[in-house]
Amino acid sequence: MTTTASECDRLLEELGRKPDDLALREQATRALQRAGREAEAISLLTGHLRNLTGHEPPPLPCLCRKCIDPERTTTEALGFTFDREFSVAEGRVLFYWVPREVRGRRAAVRRSVESALADKLRAKKKRR
Ligand SMILES: [Zn+2]
Repeated sequence: MTTTASECDRLLEELGRKPDDLALREQATRALQRAGREAEAISLLTGHLRNLTGHEPPPLPCLCRKCIDPERTTTEALGFTFDREFSVAEGRVLFYWVPREVRGRRAAVRRSVESALADKLRAKKKRR
């Protein structure tokens, strides 16, 4: 899929007007990623949303708030190639690595992480 710079600009401009629109933020992030503007894409997420990713030891590069390297979109570990993915819910973002073998099911993986994240955060809110 190709993304023109103008599509990114249009989404970013719209997001500037509606900074709390989470779906729009996700859409703008993915447009930037398709355009190869990874660093901008990641800061669009981490600049506004809380990165819930926990600090993890190797073999996979840590994606927590302190360690995440925006330019690192893939990694190799244990003989597999992994692609970085993210899900957003309730003003939070979670980053994780997805094995390239399941690339065809990436959208489904993303959705299931998203709904698990949303459920967890909603349950947390209720307990307060
Ligand atoms: Zn870390």
